[in-house]
Amino acid sequence: MTSKQKHIPVRLAGLSDGVDELRFDVAPADIELPAEFAQTVDVRIEVDKTHHQVAVHVFVSTTAQYPCDRCLEAVDIAVDTDLRIVFVHDNSAEGGEDDRDIRLINPNDPVADLAEDVREAALLCIPMRRVCGENEHGEPRCSGILPDDRNADTQPKEDPRWDTLKSLNLDQ
Ligand SMILES: [Zn+2]
Repeated sequence: MTSKQKHIPVRLAGLSDGVDELRFDVAPADIELPAEFAQTVDVRIEVDKTHHQVAVHVFVSTTAQYPCDRCLEAVDIAVDTDLRIVFVHDNSAEGGEDDRDIRLINPNDPVADLAEDVREAALLCIPMRRVCGENEHGEPRCSGILPDDRNADTQPKEDPRWDTLKSLNLDQ
């Protein structure tokens, strides 16, 4: 055996018809997720075997932690996604009724490894822009110090309305 170790193995042969469920607790490093993925990846797989095919529905759940783009504070990003793959014995059967991911079962090695699929699905959950979020006024929720705030501290605002207010107060 020269094939590398399978981290999320799904047996596709020798199944009886019906739905089965598999669960894996996967260490992020085992499926080559980046260090921002520090928590165990929860993978649940529904395996639906019928005569001609094995349809799998994969549910991926974990949490990643990335620095906020604004303030660099750690932001928890929920990773909650699912994907479907259909494994068939013979590709000659007509398909294409939808855009499902259809793959051939390798008769010499009928155990598919879904590690790469889970890795890609998890990474797709990470947005390009990662911030602490915004409140109802569109202001950042950042609890860390914003670069804009640092600039504001060194450049006091000169607003003529303050002078008016000051003079009003003095008059009283
Ligand atoms: Zn922030």
